[in-house]
Amino acid sequence: MPGTIVIVEDEANIVELVKYNLDREGYRTLYANDGRKGLELIKQELPDLVILDLMLPEMDGLSVCKQLRSDAQTKSIPIIILTAKSEEADRVLGLEMGADDYVTKPFSPRELVARVRAVLRRSGAVDETEPEIIENGVIRIDLRQHLVKVRGEEVELTPKEFDFLKLLLLNPGRAFTREFLLEHLWGYEYFGDTRTVDVHVRRLRQKIENDPANPEYLETVRGVGYRFRGE
Ligand code: CA
Repeated sequence: MPGTIVIVEDEANIVELVKYNLDREGYRTLYANDGRKGLELIKQELPDLVILDLMLPEMDGLSVCKQLRSDAQTKSIPIIILTAKSEEADRVLGLEMGADDYVTKPFSPRELVARVRAVLRRSGAVDETEPEIIENGVIRIDLRQHLVKVRGEEVELTPKEFDFLKLLLLNPGRAFTREFLLEHLWGYEYFGDTRTVDVHVRRLRQKIENDPANPEYLETVRGVGYRFRGE
């Protein structure tokens, strides 16, 4: 079990983005949308890590941080603070008050997940072992070796194609919109054209499908986007 993370953030879209990306990595996530509720939730759950926004209703993030650090039960829980670019002074104050790291908004999910992993690894709280192999039908991904085999044959994927295929295999049957894929694979700050997704789908099909023109695995969901038809 990779661990429990409490997210304290009042912006629903950020909660959703963070939660989705951490859930996908196998973390158990809980959230609160104001500082006071956040503090209660943390004291009750004693999570492995806290992601804490600074600008919060009821009680601001710095006060939450201070309270957590002054309580014997919570003082060693790692904290990553979320700040806007303009809040540099608060960020410094947050680190002085005992936050372990910070992420500046807007951030990419990949960056945040990497920070979470790094902070947890440093704190030694959690066993960071990922699944090594994801397998579905004829496709097998070895995450440790970054190796993909289709029908027993090794295929070369770009890093983006690799992440895309991993996402699909971890969520068989789930339909993803182009916008969702763009945001989650290319990052929160990426304002690219959704055709980027189509190009990657086409390339992936050439690499994994028997007949790329009649895909059996990476299906188009009309009016929505794409889905991996798993076994
Ligand atoms: Ca906020």
